[in-house]
Amino acid sequence: MRLVTRAGELHAARASLPRPLGFVPTMGALHAGHSALIERARAECEAVAVSVFVNPLQFGPNEDFQSYPRSVDDDRELLESLDVALLFAPSVSEMYPQKLDVFVEPTMLARHLEGERRPGHFRGVATVVLKLLNLVAPQRAYFGEKDAQQLAVLRRMVDDLAVPVEVIACETVREPDGLALSSRNVYLGAAERRAAPNLHRALEKTREMLEAGESEVSAVLEPARATLAPLREDYLAVVRPDEFRPLASVAPAATLIAVGAAFAGKTRLIDNVRVQTPPRAER
Ligand code: AMP
Repeated sequence: MRLVTRAGELHAARASLPRPLGFVPTMGALHAGHSALIERARAECEAVAVSVFVNPLQFGPNEDFQSYPRSVDDDRELLESLDVALLFAPSVSEMYPQKLDVFVEPTMLARHLEGERRPGHFRGVATVVLKLLNLVAPQRAYFGEKDAQQLAVLRRMVDDLAVPVEVIACETVREPDGLALSSRNVYLGAAERRAAPNLHRALEKTREMLEAGESEVSAVLEPARATLAPLREDYLAVVRPDEFRPLASVAPAATLIAVGAAFAGKTRLIDNVRVQTPPRAER
């Protein structure tokens, strides 16, 4: 595996790689969720590039940029074992040698939920991902459904700005008890870790009721909220995958996403599950 830390060295490094090149952007502290993206890319592409970059642009002033888990040596070892050809791990000053003046700004897709709770977050994500895509120039880029709103923003960015890459979504990897893997799970104390799967349980409850024919979202979210305790709700909602606006009621035969964010102590968890509402005849 070739390690590149300088943007200027990327062009030559990637020129020697066979195509198609698959790319998996990450913030490091790699876990089995990241591995699944990399293995999928490895299966579908001739070579795989991974970036590890904790992007300050996507953290709010009171968020965990400084304390975000970093495990560079373990990450490198894992990436070697997954047959990754190229690791791009730039410093902050390498990625942003001057204060940025031009950003990628998602609008409609960033108005609610994560975008509302984390102002500027998706602008930071979209901006860094476009820059990474320009630097690495892959044919395919792999993202996790775990961050469903982020995936929607990036799909839309690639569409709206004609970015020459194919976006590929990968299913959320979970612990046996349902908790979605996340680099931030290392923050969880023992009691918090035990409660953490309640977010997934609440979303599953939502999915079951909608798939059984309930169409009023408030009627579904009430029992889901009861499942969440002792986690503290940030939001629970049902959205269309291309809009991310909380719905009051759902249409028949619709593909939707139940999304949620909740606090286990100070740690903020997010998760989502896909929902397929039944056709009208069964309701
Ligand atoms: P991060 O390092 O958290 O920025 O994540 C890098 C990529 O891995 C993103 O596309 C995430 O959506 C994806 N990812 C993170 N956790 C998981 C998971 N549990 N399952 C699948 N993909 C994930």
